[in-house]
Amino acid sequence: MLDKLKPSSVWKYFGEICAIPHGSGNIGAISAYLQKFAEDRGLAYIAEPCGNVIIRKDATPGCESAPAIVLQGHMDMVAVKEDGCTKDMEKEGLDVAVSDDGQFVYAKGTSLGGDDGIALAYGLALLDADDIAHPAFELVATVDEETGMDGARELLATDVRGRRWLNLDSEDEGILLAGCAGGLTQMSTFSVTRDTVSGSLLRISVTGCRGGHSGTEIDKNRANAILILALLIREMNCGKMLQPLWISGGEKDNAIPTSAEMVLCVNEYERFEICRAFDSAERKLLATLRRQEPDLAFTLEETEDGGEHMIREGSYRVMSPASFEKVLDFLLLVPFGVSAMSEEPKGLVETSNNVGIIRTVGDTVVVDSSVRSMIALRKEQLGDKIALLTSLCGGIAERHSEYPGWEFRPESALRDTWVETYREVYGEEPLVKTIHAGLECGLIIEHMPETDAISFGPNIYDIHTTSERMEIASVERTWNLLVRLLAKLGGK
Ligand SMILES: [Zn+2]
Repeated sequence: MLDKLKPSSVWKYFGEICAIPHGSGNIGAISAYLQKFAEDRGLAYIAEPCGNVIIRKDATPGCESAPAIVLQGHMDMVAVKEDGCTKDMEKEGLDVAVSDDGQFVYAKGTSLGGDDGIALAYGLALLDADDIAHPAFELVATVDEETGMDGARELLATDVRGRRWLNLDSEDEGILLAGCAGGLTQMSTFSVTRDTVSGSLLRISVTGCRGGHSGTEIDKNRANAILILALLIREMNCGKMLQPLWISGGEKDNAIPTSAEMVLCVNEYERFEICRAFDSAERKLLATLRRQEPDLAFTLEETEDGGEHMIREGSYRVMSPASFEKVLDFLLLVPFGVSAMSEEPKGLVETSNNVGIIRTVGDTVVVDSSVRSMIALRKEQLGDKIALLTSLCGGIAERHSEYPGWEFRPESALRDTWVETYREVYGEEPLVKTIHAGLECGLIIEHMPETDAISFGPNIYDIHTTSERMEIASVERTWNLLVRLLAKLGGK
């Protein structure tokens, strides 16, 4: 299917990679394939304890004195399939196909893993070629990028010689990434006291917010459903009448939440008051938020679902108004969205926070916030601010899943050479940007601070979904750019 596409060696190896199941956490077979590739060609390689594979090739004649170059990508993919697709992605290869218009490669019924199989395919094609000039070359294939960047985290600096680093894990041809955000998750836990009350249950929900990625879409002015719910409750101004059983919203700390809900217990007199307050608050909030979130909806409905907080029908354990108020204070004060824009490059998001999840677990309410910044100190400061607010509101703050950013370097010889090569190949200017999301380069540079890194790649659309597709012509142009860049870096 791919054998008529160019460059043929790149597509040949991409096809071989697609035939091997390699979802995150299932990298044994792809790792063995890479090792066998090196053995078959007499190339030196290292298989690290965490599973990373590093394959080396000497410089071609005339390029011996140039410093070594690393091409790096991750060997795992996000393995997702359509409802009804019967493929066992743990055991079976992908059904790769070319779209009817001949423009794209995709996989039938599943994600493609162009992210980041194409990086390995480029690397293997270079290792296998005997007609491409390059300095001493290393392909670094890392494991489990998609589930926490474990391979980059555990990479040993002593296993890699090169300090000029090409990360091929970007999906926008024409854009060179030269920096990325670091991040951390700040967890705020509030203990609540509970009272036993009788009455009936009402559910208040916020739905229809657009959501999006908490990094790359944090500057798109999207509303946060959890915080909208807090605003609604504040606006209802029902104080002691609000007796929630639980509050919940959001699914991932790195996604802007699209919905949130709260279930509360009311008696007959309060029910009328609460419904009236809800109607008035709903009207006010919709009037101000409708343009920002056209599908935003508020609902108030009866429910019988008291979950673990139901003693028997009509009798429930509810959060005391005083302890719920502390949670509400936190939600009304916690920062959300962009808190600073960058100076260099100008106009990009520098520091942000997303309140991603709220959940009620027994007698605690837990809120997860995902802080990102291009600047390590700013990430620390914003994390601290949320921790301080947590304790002021009577909660306990904990931090986890921290990863370093990749700060934009004012001077980068590698970046300059890439930009110059891009101009020659494309006859136009590329965009040099930083990205407000995590890339493995942050961890690489933490291990090897002297590393000069850049990140680029061919056009891949809708990654991590079953609509993922890779542009065939873009793969070829990016290959031509890569070949030219290596010759230049070899001093040719
Ligand atoms: Zn990737």
